[in-house]
Amino acid sequence: MPVVLLLLLSPLSYADEEVRIGVLSHRGDVVTRAMWGPTADYLSAIIPGHHFTIHPLKFDEVNPVVDAGKVDFVLVNPGIYVNLEVKYRVSRIATLYNRRNNVPYKIFGGVIFTRKDHPEINTLEDLRGHSFMAVYSTSLGGFQMAMREMLASGIDPYRDLKSLEFGGIHDLVVMSVLHGDVDVGTVRTDILERMASAGTIDIDDFHIINPRQEPEFPFALSTRLYPEWPFSKVAHTADSLAQEVAVALLQMPHDHHAALAGKYAGWTIPLDYQPVHELFRELKLPPYQDLGKFTLSDAIERYRIWLFGGLLVLLFMVFMTLWVMRLNKALHSAKTRLEQQHELIVDSVADGIYGVDLRGRSTFFNKAAERITGWSAREVIGLNQHEILHHTHADGSPHWAEECPVYQTFRDNKARYISDDVFWRKDGTSFPVEYSSTPIWDENGKTVGSVVVFRDTTRRKKAEEDARQHQIELARVGRLSTLGEMASGIAHELNQPLTAISTNAQASIRLLESNSSSLDVCVDVMERIAAQADRAGEIIRQLRRFVRKEPLERSEVDVNDLVNAVVVLIRPEIRRASVVLELDLDRDLPRISVQPIQIEQVILNLARNAIESLLENQKGERKLSIRTHRVGSERIEVLVRDNGPGIRPDVADTLFDPFVTSKSQGMGLGLSISHGIIGAHGGKLVVNPSYREGAEFTFYLPLAEAS
Ligand code: ADP
Repeated sequence: MPVVLLLLLSPLSYADEEVRIGVLSHRGDVVTRAMWGPTADYLSAIIPGHHFTIHPLKFDEVNPVVDAGKVDFVLVNPGIYVNLEVKYRVSRIATLYNRRNNVPYKIFGGVIFTRKDHPEINTLEDLRGHSFMAVYSTSLGGFQMAMREMLASGIDPYRDLKSLEFGGIHDLVVMSVLHGDVDVGTVRTDILERMASAGTIDIDDFHIINPRQEPEFPFALSTRLYPEWPFSKVAHTADSLAQEVAVALLQMPHDHHAALAGKYAGWTIPLDYQPVHELFRELKLPPYQDLGKFTLSDAIERYRIWLFGGLLVLLFMVFMTLWVMRLNKALHSAKTRLEQQHELIVDSVADGIYGVDLRGRSTFFNKAAERITGWSAREVIGLNQHEILHHTHADGSPHWAEECPVYQTFRDNKARYISDDVFWRKDGTSFPVEYSSTPIWDENGKTVGSVVVFRDTTRRKKAEEDARQHQIELARVGRLSTLGEMASGIAHELNQPLTAISTNAQASIRLLESNSSSLDVCVDVMERIAAQADRAGEIIRQLRRFVRKEPLERSEVDVNDLVNAVVVLIRPEIRRASVVLELDLDRDLPRISVQPIQIEQVILNLARNAIESLLENQKGERKLSIRTHRVGSERIEVLVRDNGPGIRPDVADTLFDPFVTSKSQGMGLGLSISHGIIGAHGGKLVVNPSYREGAEFTFYLPLAEAS
């Protein structure tokens, strides 16, 4: 029964929930429990269902305990509180009313003082160079508040003072200053007044530095004021419980025995702890120790996006660089390959190629140029190409450098082709060349020289000459065959004068033997003999001329003379075929340079073809006309026309091809040879397709043939 009674009387109940209050313990657990235990009991009594307990915490235990959630409320000094607030979201629910000389104060500050006999120390700036004592470095009222003011006045206590000591106990600091051990000291407010009222010191022996007056604050003060200790709830504590605790604390009478035990005078609504935050921020103390310090991780955190972007850009640039390097390498090898190919091409072509700079010096010389000229590239490069290759004309006269087409090329910036020139070999012999000279430009379009591509034309010239000879030979064969065909007619033609000569000669013999005739008659007969002999001689002369090997040189002739010479040869055929010949020769023809026998051969071919075709017409309807005339100042035209049956359609398109004939005995060479001859003279032989009354062939010869 007494046990049951005891349980009923006890405020403890096993069902009560324990609420742990962590309290910063300065002076040992026993003292702390003695001071704050009554406050816990007060709360347990007022708030039903909860049992409040005190857990003394050493300075370094506070953070881990709060972090681990081992307490529900904390009672710590304002400095620790602001740290907890920032780190663990601890929040104050009431601020302590401190009790000093029986007067409650919820704010406090620091006082900086010196002995009266230090009149030279008045302001904070005057502290420079003096010895100084504070309580301890982490003491809010006993150092940090004073330090804040000193820094604000430009004094760094760790740098600008003669010495800085920490006495550990407020009273010791005061006594050290009083005894002159140090020049200046700082303690929290009310210490001086407490010691004075205890009779330990006489406050008039001290001189307050940087004194400040605050309304309703009666103690000597040198710093700003800060709120007293807060009672706070940790993050996990229920708001409803915190509210009940706050209400209970605020309702505690200032003379409650719990307050008296704790040496305080009750609680007030939580004050603003911003001034403490600001102080810590300015002194760069935890939780603001890293304020202003910008660590690598801060940088990474803050500039994450930029860093990431930068990294991407960097990666991109690395990639681009690698890519450009690869491209460069590829370009380099492509360039080398191209150069090799270029060299290979330049060296493998059959034409000689060399380059010339603006001063006429050779810049390169390919293999073919070496082979053709006998000079090696090594010997020629850097030397004047004109003096080496081009110094003399074919006729032996000097070829002046100013006239050199290669030089003119880079002077007037125009490419040129020279079809006929000579170059000189190393052994002093020359060879015919055709070459092109083209300006070379640099990448800015500026002319830097010429490139010459040349070809030895010795073989080509010989081939051309051979072709010409062949053509001449062919023409001659053509003439011989024509004459073969004409032989009987010509023989017959010769027969007439020979018969006449013979008859006349016998007549004159008879005249001379009879002695009857006069000398005049004899002379007349002799003259006839001579005339007939001339006629025969003319035919034979023309024949000889026509079959002889023609000299290569051309001569200036009157084309009408050529027509007349041909007429002498075809006269017998004309007569036998009863063809009427019409000649219409332009008297004002200029003389032109031709190979006369070849042109005669053409006229003869055309005339004979006409006569042959006229055989198909009735006698009396056979007409051949040959006409010459000048066309403007450019050419002479010769027209051979007949009124025969005209060109047969089956041969019309291929008339000028060799071996095209419509005749059983024909060779089909006449027109082909004629076409070649006229072409070689720079003219043209054509058939008039619109002429319907027979056949009409025309050829023209230029007055001045372009070379
Ligand atoms: P060929 O006289 O030996 O046949 P040509 O080359 O002189 O060789 O003539 C080729 C052909 O052109 C003749 O076979 C003939 O058919 C035709 N031809 C040439 N001249 C005339 C012309 N005046 N009238 C009609 N046909 C002609």
